[in-house]
Amino acid sequence: KHQLETLERNRQEQEALLQELTETQEELRKAITIRDEFMSIASHELKTPLTSLKLQIQLRQRYLKKGDASAFTIDKIAKMVESDDRQIQRLIRLIDDMLDISRIRSGRLTVHPATFDLSELVHDVVDRFSEQLAAAGCTVTLTVPGPVVGYWDHFRVEQVVINLLTNAMRYGAGKPVTIVLEAGDGRARLSVRDEGIGIAEEHQARIFQQFERVVSASQIGGLGLGLYIVDQIVRAHGGSIRVESALGKGSTFIVELPVEGNRASDAS
Ligand code: ADP
Repeated sequence: KHQLETLERNRQEQEALLQELTETQEELRKAITIRDEFMSIASHELKTPLTSLKLQIQLRQRYLKKGDASAFTIDKIAKMVESDDRQIQRLIRLIDDMLDISRIRSGRLTVHPATFDLSELVHDVVDRFSEQLAAAGCTVTLTVPGPVVGYWDHFRVEQVVINLLTNAMRYGAGKPVTIVLEAGDGRARLSVRDEGIGIAEEHQARIFQQFERVVSASQIGGLGLGLYIVDQIVRAHGGSIRVESALGKGSTFIVELPVEGNRASDAS
């Protein structure tokens, strides 16, 4: 009887082990699929601006060969440079996002806080993007209460504002964008609202995960990394982000940051 019991116990243990192995294998398979999909989207996303740059160069080479100087008036050169710059910015953004993902994975996304005024930063970002916003037919209304001073990482918080603003522009269907900054209870609250394509309720929780893109947005290029990085940055500051949205009506992203950043937990 004792031997039978031992045998049965061994059998059960083996079964549990086998089950665990199968699950691990399944997880690995999923991870490989995600990685493969990511590689193919990333290659495509990187190739698009490169192809555009290559075509521009070929066009210029043709004009040069023909000795046709009419293509090189100051106006035309200015347009070319502007277009090249946009493609290069896009490449830099993609590569920076990929680098941030690897930093987050290895726990190297550290924040370097300093005291600064968030309202000034938001003004600066909107100014810097004014030409791109105008080209997208998008007007921005900015409401700030005055200085909102906090202890945050300037570079990373700027990344958050740029991401939310450019998403509002990309998914905003050329409709107005409203940015509101508020302060109170030791927190700064930034909301970025667009009236564009919106996000269905069932997708809202997923968009903060890495590589998550909503099918309806698939015509608009992207890697699905921006909001994941934004979420990680906000968390690293002891803050939070959420979205309120309705499909076809637009989205509002709301970020809350404690003005003391992560100072309290830094000290502990
Ligand atoms: P992506 O580079 O794909 O835009 P993000 O992480 O910034 O990556 O966003 C993830 C997904 O969330 C997007 O693919 C899009 O489906 C959705 N999304 C983000 N911002 C908005 C917005 N303002 N309006 C509608 N959908 C949005």
